Amino acid sequence: LFLCLEGGEGAGKSTQAKLLVEWLESLGHPVLLTREPGGTDVGQILRRIVLDNDTGELSPRTEALIYAADKAEHVDRVVLPALADGTVVLTDRYVDSTLAYQGAGREIGIAELEAVARWATSDLRPHLTVVLDVDPTVGLSRFEGADRIEAEPLEFHQRVRQHFLDLAAVDPAHYLVVDASRTPSEIHQQIRAAVEPWLAQ
Ligand code: C5P
Repeated sequence: LFLCLEGGEGAGKSTQAKLLVEWLESLGHPVLLTREPGGTDVGQILRRIVLDNDTGELSPRTEALIYAADKAEHVDRVVLPALADGTVVLTDRYVDSTLAYQGAGREIGIAELEAVARWATSDLRPHLTVVLDVDPTVGLSRFEGADRIEAEPLEFHQRVRQHFLDLAAVDPAHYLVVDASRTPSEIHQQIRAAVEPWLAQ
């Protein structure tokens, strides 16, 4: 089972990832929590390159290709082997983050980006993607910038948010949108209810 958490800055992905992993483990499922960018050793290096790019000196296409390289390494070395072992894989960000941040945020061609990201991931798609939806003004005020100084304007984050919602709207069978302004435990209960049917399959 392949699960994904998506959302803007300060949406509470890390908190929900932790709660979800604890719950799945309590049910006896082997679980792997991983993330993009940075889910592999090479990915850690790539993560530093793109997250240090606050001043925007990287060309947007270069940045997009570094994210794609991170994905290829992540899917080939981590995600696919774990899924083949019967492990539940939960990734903190995946292809949709690329479409939202590099595509809608940086406004580079979504169709080309999607083609590259699908190629990089061998078109592997999560069974369920949970979008933690929060107004960027709220999310950014919560965000403590663990390893990144937030450099993008509010409109950038608004485009990112809208893109996540648009992706979810066209494929409701594979998405859950949660109002991330609710309490962590309310959000977790909603996520549990959406994951449960997939565990039964
Ligand atoms: O949520 P996480 O800490 O993993 O994300 C780190 C940062 O990477 C986010 O602030 C987001 O702006 C950025 N990012 C991005 N494009 C992606 C994935 C993440 O710009 N495809």
